[in-house]
Amino acid sequence: MRTQTSGKTDLHQRFATIVGDSNTISAASELRTYECDGLTGTRVTPALVVLPGTTEEVSQCVRLANELGMPIVARGSGTGLSGGAVPSPESLIIGLSRMNAILEVDLPNERIRVQPGVANLDVSRAIAPHGYYYAPDPSSQSVCSIGGNVAENSGGAHCLKYGFTVNHAMGATVVLADGTVVSIGGPLADSLGYNLMALIVGSEGMMAVVTEVWLRIIRLPQKTRTIFATFPSTDEAGAAVSAIIANGIIPAAIEMMDQLAIKAIVAATGVDWPLDVGAALLADMDGIAAEVDHTAEAAIASMKQAGAVDVRTPRDAAERALMWKGRKSAFAAVGRISPNYYVQDGVVPRKQIAAVLREIARLAAEAGLCVANVFHAGDGNLHPLLLYDARVPGEEERAEHVASEILRVCIRYGGSITGEHGVGLDKAPYMGELFNENDLETMSLVRCAFDPAGRLNPGKVFPTPRLCGDRPGPFVLSPLERLDIAGRG
Ligand SMILES: Cc1cc2nc3c(=O)[nH]c(=O)nc-3n(C[C@H](O)[C@H](O)[C@H](O)COP(=O)(O)OP(=O)(O)OC[C@H]3O[C@@H](n4cnc5c(N)ncnc54)[C@H](O)[C@@H]3O)c2cc1C
Repeated sequence: MRTQTSGKTDLHQRFATIVGDSNTISAASELRTYECDGLTGTRVTPALVVLPGTTEEVSQCVRLANELGMPIVARGSGTGLSGGAVPSPESLIIGLSRMNAILEVDLPNERIRVQPGVANLDVSRAIAPHGYYYAPDPSSQSVCSIGGNVAENSGGAHCLKYGFTVNHAMGATVVLADGTVVSIGGPLADSLGYNLMALIVGSEGMMAVVTEVWLRIIRLPQKTRTIFATFPSTDEAGAAVSAIIANGIIPAAIEMMDQLAIKAIVAATGVDWPLDVGAALLADMDGIAAEVDHTAEAAIASMKQAGAVDVRTPRDAAERALMWKGRKSAFAAVGRISPNYYVQDGVVPRKQIAAVLREIARLAAEAGLCVANVFHAGDGNLHPLLLYDARVPGEEERAEHVASEILRVCIRYGGSITGEHGVGLDKAPYMGELFNENDLETMSLVRCAFDPAGRLNPGKVFPTPRLCGDRPGPFVLSPLERLDIAGRG
């Protein structure tokens, strides 16, 4: 009789023939690294992890996983915050971290071709000497991967003016669910046919495994002016954001922090921001030099008119870098003032920011919890951080409850359940509150065109993970089963 251990060894060896023994992970202690992403409360140990080095190896691993009936979860750096890379116990994780080469830099056409494991910031670092950068800048940019950015359509502080990943990922080489390798889009400004690249971006690892990406790169701006402004409360700060944009000025970035977030950031990074204010805005105005001074002055005037207590600009590049480091380290900083916190991600129309923040404060107060807010204000993309202590019975549950209610508030104010962190595992239950059954069915059918058996990252995004085309409620035969395109395995 074969033991479980010998079954595991067989599995290890079969994949090791593709990627090599040292790139195949089956030891229980090592698999634990892959049991969760940034949503650390949900942990599942996968059956096996492989770290392929080429597109061909990814393709072979996908084919073998299919043969063995294993679900497949692509994984970049594991910084996702919605549980997108959380496996099921029988899953194969395809880790793309070894595929981290920059393959081609094409400055005349403002393009760069990279493997998916390249860290976001490394793209900008590679082209900075030539006067270029890659615009989407998640706060996790020093570690998160381009493959993960594509799968999540990641945003960042500077996406207000320059757009999200979907505006910068032009083409990709991908491995489909049956192992077929295809090219989608490409370096050209407008590729022929359906815009499949826009489908792959944001598909959360459920349509294909991305193994190469063509990115748009842009010239570093001639000049950037950073403005830091403090306000009595988030009401005035929110009004300032709306006023600046209503005046026809699109800042490169405009980020808001409330009092608790400011306190955490000051304690962690040493920025000399005042602690006795209700909120602060950190904004960048960039472009050609002649324009920037004008737009910066106009933005400062709008901030003052909206009730800014103090407006200042950094003395030099070092102070500017420290200010942005402060903002980008905010999540980690909050970790120093609370044993645990839950990051929520919702989006609301910009003009509703102040009202929604008041609702969030009320919900947190009713639950006896503190909330820190630090977010991309220009996009209306809120990130309330609910502080709790998991050692105190009931606190974690209360934080999760408030986090759910925050999503409902976002929906009620005309917003959505995710601004940039994706739906993943965490928010799948809320999809039915935002979309009706026809909407979900249509999305599910698109996914099925790529992956009829639901092999890639099953159980994510859709409220019911049974099969493509399934929906909540009593059992009904899926349209794909009726057409005999897919079956229940
Ligand atoms: C401190 C912190 C700050 C953050 N700030 C931001 C922010 O400002 N903006 C923002 O948008 N996000 C932010 N995030 C979330 C996260 O960093 C992004 O979602 C990021 O794009 C995830 O990249 P990753 O490489 O870590 O992907 P992973 O977490 O490994 O995976 C994320 C999803 O992508 C899929 N995937 C990964 N690689 C591939 C591939 N090659 N092919 C197909 N599917 C793939 C996975 O299956 C999973 O569904 C933050 C996270 C942290 C921890």
